Amino acid sequence: MNGSVPARVQGIYDEVLRRNRGETEFHQAVREVLESLAVVLDRHSEYSEMKTVERICEPERQIIFRVPWQDDRGEVQINRGFRVEFNSALGPYKGGLRFHPSVDLGIVKFLGFEQIFKNALTGMPIGGGKGGSDFDPKGRSDAEVMRFCQSFMTELYRHLGEYTDVPAGDIGVGTREIGYLFGQYKRITNRYESGVITGKGLGWGGALVRTEATGYGAVFFAEAMMQTAGESFDGRRVVVSGSGNVAVYAIEKVHQLGGTVVACSDSSGYVVDEKGIDLDVLKQVKEVERSRIDQYAERVGTARFVADGSIWDVPCEVAIPSATQNELGEDAARTLVQNGCRYVVEGANMPTTPDAVRVLREAGTAFAPGKAANAGGVATSALEMQQNASRDRWTFEHSETRLEEIMRGIHDRCHATAEEYGSPGDLVLGANVAGFLQVAEAVHAHGLI
Ligand code: NAP
Repeated sequence: MNGSVPARVQGIYDEVLRRNRGETEFHQAVREVLESLAVVLDRHSEYSEMKTVERICEPERQIIFRVPWQDDRGEVQINRGFRVEFNSALGPYKGGLRFHPSVDLGIVKFLGFEQIFKNALTGMPIGGGKGGSDFDPKGRSDAEVMRFCQSFMTELYRHLGEYTDVPAGDIGVGTREIGYLFGQYKRITNRYESGVITGKGLGWGGALVRTEATGYGAVFFAEAMMQTAGESFDGRRVVVSGSGNVAVYAIEKVHQLGGTVVACSDSSGYVVDEKGIDLDVLKQVKEVERSRIDQYAERVGTARFVADGSIWDVPCEVAIPSATQNELGEDAARTLVQNGCRYVVEGANMPTTPDAVRVLREAGTAFAPGKAANAGGVATSALEMQQNASRDRWTFEHSETRLEEIMRGIHDRCHATAEEYGSPGDLVLGANVAGFLQVAEAVHAHGLI
C-alpha cells in the first residue's frame, strides 16, 4: 500500500500488524478506517485514554471449527468453519456467512471489521460479526450442500441466538443454504426462532425486499450521490461486475431508474450487451440454472462473452463493483477514468484497492465505499428481525420505501460528517467517522469490557 499511516494512529496499526500476521485483507480494512480517524482522536481525547480504537480493532470472540461431511461418493470431506463476533456495542452480532474456497480467518476478520461500521451507519441496533467456510458450493449437489450446512450448524448453533448472534448470507450462501442452516438450528434447539438468521425464504419468516436489498440499496445510494450533483441515472451507461445476488438486483434497479447496464461478469469472464443486460435471461442463467455467464451470450444475440481481460475496460459513466474484494485495481481505475467514468459505487465489500481509490480520488471521480453503499442488505435484515419479533409482515412497497429512506439517510450522514471533519465530498472519511463515532460512544458508555 502506498503512503504512510498518520502518526496519530501508527502505533495502533503496528500493533494490529503484529497481532494478526499474514491477514492482509484485515490489515487493509483496518488501515483504511484508521486513516480517517486521526481527525476524530484530535477532537476526542477520551477515546485515546480508554483505547477505544484499539479495543474495536480486537474481536470480542473468534470461533474456528472443523466441519466434517460426506460427499455423494461417500468420501469424507473436511472444511474449516469460522465465526468472528467482532463487536456487540450496538446490538447482537450481525453479519453474513460466506462459503468460498478463499475464506480464511483474515478474510472473515476484514468482513467483520467492516460490518461494525456498516451496521452502525444503518442506525439499527445491530453489532458486527461475520463468518463462513472454505467450502465451495459450486458444482456440489443439493444433497451435498445440505449435508455440509447441517454439519456447519451442528457446531455454530451454540454461539447463535436472536439476542446473541444473527447470521445471514453472503458469497455462496443464498436462500437454499439459509434454509438448510435454519432447519438444522431448529432441529437441534427445538425452537422456531425466526430471528436467529436472516435471508429466510418468504414462506418461512423471510421478509420482502431482503433478496433485492443490497443491490437496490447500492443504486439508491448512487442516486443520492448523483442528486447532490444535480444529476440522475437517466440515460447513463453503467457497468456492474458480478452476477450474484448484489449484482442482479443492482442491475434491476438501474434499469428501473432509466440507466442501462451494458456489462456484468462472474469468475469465468464477462458479457457485454450494448442493448442492456436482459434480466430475465440473466436470472434464468444465474439464479435458476446456477450456470456460467457465457450462457447469457449463448442465448442473447446482441451479447458477446469475453473470457480474458477486465470488465472495467468496458466504457461507462457509473461503475458498481459487486463481485468480491480487490477486484478493481489501479490499472482498472485509470482505464475507468480515461473512459469518462464519473461514479464508482461499491456494491461488494472492499472491491476497490487502496491504490485504485487514490487514482479515482485524484481524478475527481465520486467514490462510495461499500460499508455505506452496500448497507441496504443488513439494514433490511434488521427489518426482517423486526418483522419476526412482532410476527408482522410488511408489503414490498413499504419495505422498499424504508430501504430507500435508510440509504438516503446513510448518504446524507456520510456527506455531512465529511464536511464537519474538513473533507467535503470524501464519503470514505464520512462513512468511517460517522460509523466509528456511533460505535465508540456505546463502547465508552459500557465501560472497560
Ligand atoms: P454471490 O451471490 O455469491 O455472487 C458473487 C458474484 O461475484 C458471482 O457472480 C461470482 O462469480 C462473482 N465472484 C466471486 N468471486 C469472484 C472473483 N474472484 N472474481 C470474479 N468474480 C467473482 O454473492 P453476493 O451476495 O452477490 O456478494 C457479492 C459481494 O457483495 C461480496 O463482496 C459480499 O460480501 C458483498 N455483500 C453482499 C451482501 C448480500 O446481502 N448478499 C450484502 C453486503 C455486501 P462466480 O459465481 O463465478 O464465483
